[in-house]
Amino acid sequence: MLQQTQVDRVIPKFEAFLRRFPSVDSLAAADLGDVLEMWHGLGYNSRAKRLRDAARVIAADGWPTDEAGLQTLPGIGPYTAAAVASIAFGEQVPAVDTNLKRVISRWRGLPLEGAPLTEAAMDELGDAPAGDWNQAVMDLGATTCRPRNPRCHDCPVQAWCVDPTVYVPPPRQSRFEGSLRQVRARILRDLADGPLPMSDVTEIDVRADEAVVALEKDGMVTVNGDRVSLAG
Ligand code: SF4
Repeated sequence: MLQQTQVDRVIPKFEAFLRRFPSVDSLAAADLGDVLEMWHGLGYNSRAKRLRDAARVIAADGWPTDEAGLQTLPGIGPYTAAAVASIAFGEQVPAVDTNLKRVISRWRGLPLEGAPLTEAAMDELGDAPAGDWNQAVMDLGATTCRPRNPRCHDCPVQAWCVDPTVYVPPPRQSRFEGSLRQVRARILRDLADGPLPMSDVTEIDVRADEAVVALEKDGMVTVNGDRVSLAG
């Protein structure tokens, strides 16, 4: 839920989600429509499907016990796997995301990417407990070493930071209003009440055709002849 959605918005949704699906088995058994109902307001609905699909894998095969195992689950990429493995399992891995990239690049005075970034992160991590270190870097990046206007005067690591100007922030994310994402979300909401003929779906928006193709590709809907329905 926290991949792309702010903490304040996630907390009440997370609590309601756990009340509705209190165990991995209950989430694994849920229809996509029920999961999307509880996900409403969090955005990026494909994450809800991947979470449910991950629950199905765990219900069948048991919990992974390391970073590599976590990465085999739907929706879990290298960053989330490293964050969970370091915090929950004590594995000695840095959680490399845009926050860490920015912080380490500024510490080193170099715009780091890919393997050199991971190498530098491993080097900075050293023998520190990785779970604590990752959370410290996350907090530093979120509150002090911000993308724009870093608060260097308040920074606890200013002494070893080489160049606060090295990082160029990426362009801001495009607006949800009027986007294909918005059309996709509207289609999923309408399908939550049951399958619809394609002719009804295309009335939702002029880009509905395009949105249905994308949703089908992501495994969110199935198209059977002229009928569109939520994937099971
Ligand atoms: S000194 Fe400034 S640029 Fe360097 S880590 Fe701290 S906040 Fe970021």
